[in-house]
Amino acid sequence: MRIDIISVVPELMESAFNHSILKRAINKNLVQVNLINLRNYATDKHKSVDDYAFGGGAGMVLMIEPIAACINDLKSKNTYDEVIYMSPDGELLTQKLSNQLSLLQNFIILCGHYKGVDERVRQHLITKEISIGDYVLSGGELAAAVLSDSVIRLLPGVLNDETSALSDSFQDGLIAPPVYTRPAEFNGYKVPDILLSGHTANIEKWRHEQSLLRTKERRPNLNQ
Ligand code: SAH
Repeated sequence: MRIDIISVVPELMESAFNHSILKRAINKNLVQVNLINLRNYATDKHKSVDDYAFGGGAGMVLMIEPIAACINDLKSKNTYDEVIYMSPDGELLTQKLSNQLSLLQNFIILCGHYKGVDERVRQHLITKEISIGDYVLSGGELAAAVLSDSVIRLLPGVLNDETSALSDSFQDGLIAPPVYTRPAEFNGYKVPDILLSGHTANIEKWRHEQSLLRTKERRPNLNQ
């Protein structure tokens, strides 16, 4: 998989891809992540990528010219399944959507900034718009990192234990059961006896029951 992320502040995402599971995935060549600075595609001598909104009002808008130049350049070298724009009014990111995206080969993520991007970018250059929740961020960078993380960890070979992602919340329409580690007792707070019993079948049964209970309590509408 190859993910090309276009942004005016790519540095904001560097740390997300330089540690832990994502770093390992990149080092193992399971995914290639390219952070692209939109300023490299500015078409005027001042290297501008944004301008005032037509009609007035506060906030700058990312211009279509550098974005089009950047996307065209990428497309001249690679084929892409999707050109995604991170947007608060896009399709809400869910595990189901992450699963779908994990089957793609290559995609571009465009991060907006300031007031967003010229609407013509969204109309003509973008194939999918994704939101990470009903709140507004300063830019699409953190959202792009969230989206990429949720997709990359699903790629075969990224997680050490191949079945690990399958037992996470949402994957099977259920919330994950509680987990515990040493010590078995802390300040009188005990780990449920069943988990210390060594009886695998009973433990699996208990975990499933806990999942059902949690889903009912916390996400009763999960499967609707
Ligand atoms: N004026 C826009 C918000 C712009 S926020 C509006 O009211 O809808 C600046 C940029 O941050 C956006 O262009 C988008 O790329 C990103 N962004 C903000 N909130 C986001 C969210 N919840 N999900 C995904 N991207 C978001």
